[in-house]
Amino acid sequence: MRIILMGPPGVGKGTEAVLLAEHYHIPHISTGNIFRELYKDNTDVGKIAMGYIDRGELVPNHITNEIVRHRLMEDDAKDGFLFDGYPRNIEQAKAFDHLLKEMGWKLNAVINIAAPDEVIIERIAGRRVCETCGAVYHIHNKKPKREGICDLDGGKLVQRADDMEETVQRRLRIYCDQTAPVIGYYKSKGSIVEIDGTKSIQYTDSTIKKVLGEMN
Ligand code: AMP
Ligand code: ZN
Repeated sequence: MRIILMGPPGVGKGTEAVLLAEHYHIPHISTGNIFRELYKDNTDVGKIAMGYIDRGELVPNHITNEIVRHRLMEDDAKDGFLFDGYPRNIEQAKAFDHLLKEMGWKLNAVINIAAPDEVIIERIAGRRVCETCGAVYHIHNKKPKREGICDLDGGKLVQRADDMEETVQRRLRIYCDQTAPVIGYYKSKGSIVEIDGTKSIQYTDSTIKKVLGEMN
């Protein structure tokens, strides 16, 4: 299964991506997570990327596309993958098309999880992530067993620097200007599955699995 999961920041993409990747036994490829890992590992590209991330801007396409190319060459991606947070603009979508063609691969589905700005802002404000493993929680919608502590490894739950309000506004604007047009791009090429992201995690998850089951 080769899937792209789209949607505005904070809509629950990351949480849903983990569930789908487990269900279909495919790697969950999040460009945001890769950049954060590269930063933690003290690499030059990680430091460059974090400058953009902290400002709520997109990391330049040549860096992002190159990272994706390398990731797709890894062994675990040959039988499928789920992209979360990529492509984020038309140029990336075109570069990705090119790469898929080169590999001789076709996408099974492009899924868009949609929600209005008010819902997104509330979700981002309540989002907490594990400092150690990056697992995502929400103070109301996805509480950890012990407040402030990751269920998986006991790591401390913190708010991402780019989830602070000012940066969120900028990320939403960039989403609207640059990422939303990618939905139109995939629509014009064939099909895109639209999912109502205002409901529960369970609703989103079961609806997506049902649709994918019917498609493939
Ligand atoms: P995410 O974890 O998907 O919310 O991504 C966090 C941040 O990483 C974004 O706000 C961007 O600064 C950067 N980023 C992640 N994916 C991409 C991408 N495909 N293109 C450019 N920047 C990205
Ligand atoms: Zn953790």
